[in-house]
Amino acid sequence: MLSYRHSFHAGNFGDVIKHVVLTELLRYATLKGKAITYIDTHAGAGCFDLRSEHASKLNEWEQGVGRLKRGEFPELETYFSVIDEVNPDGGLDFYPGSPIFAQALLRGRDSGKLFELHSRDCETLTETMAGDLRFEVRWFDGFKGLIKQVPPPSSRAVVLIDPPYEVKEDYDTVVQTLADAYRKFPTGTYALWYPVVERSRIDQMVAEIRKSEIRDVRRWELGVKPDGTGGMTAAGMIVLNPPWTLQDKLDPVLTRLAAVLGNDHAGFAACDVIAEE
Ligand code: SAM
Repeated sequence: MLSYRHSFHAGNFGDVIKHVVLTELLRYATLKGKAITYIDTHAGAGCFDLRSEHASKLNEWEQGVGRLKRGEFPELETYFSVIDEVNPDGGLDFYPGSPIFAQALLRGRDSGKLFELHSRDCETLTETMAGDLRFEVRWFDGFKGLIKQVPPPSSRAVVLIDPPYEVKEDYDTVVQTLADAYRKFPTGTYALWYPVVERSRIDQMVAEIRKSEIRDVRRWELGVKPDGTGGMTAAGMIVLNPPWTLQDKLDPVLTRLAAVLGNDHAGFAACDVIAEE
């Protein structure tokens, strides 16, 4: 029984770093001619109403995307343009999920495989993506789905792995899945989102990646308060085969995002190399 619903959390600071990095990965991948396949192992419902009962419960978006003034982040123009697309009347009533960012950035020749296991969210996602023949929505385990999908026919892919970490095994499953997918398709670009609730879990996950055969791995993290001070204190993206432009693009912007999103000046941004090329 799946109880996690992303509609309670959409647009929070964890989504901001996730979708800023995803936007950059997709932008870079679609600069070149050959078709790409986008694989979203945990796709969610697609688009989120920030005035809904779920989102209104904690209004997490107010401490996330709601704090960002686009004029202060000119380099995030693409990210904001996707938010604009789901808010045609202006304002911020809706927040796009990862499939919507992909829908906006993929070209006609690209395609997307979206896995979502929650039946209600999968139905909503299917309705949201209906009519866009580039995308296939599957009510299927995204960890297993990814292994079946790689290598893609185009031999180029951007993969987002964004589980809810509702069950603690997810911390192990993500590393095993990355290692299995990498073995079958070592040239893909993979992005793994993680929350920092207990730092030791993330340290363990990173240690397991280091022990694996996976090469060329970097991590970007955005924190809003010190570790161990309650709830999700930071969130990050671990990227395999990151484009060479990513570091120069992300480092300055994450530092400024941390200043805006951090609580009581405790925000921080970090980047490190987990495994060399
Ligand atoms: N990627 C989405 C976005 O950025 O908008 C958010 C995804 S949310 C963090 C995680 C989603 O994974 C939830 O909608 C949950 O129902 C779904 N889920 C949980 N376990 C899954 C599994 N094994 N395979 C596919 N989806 C799963």
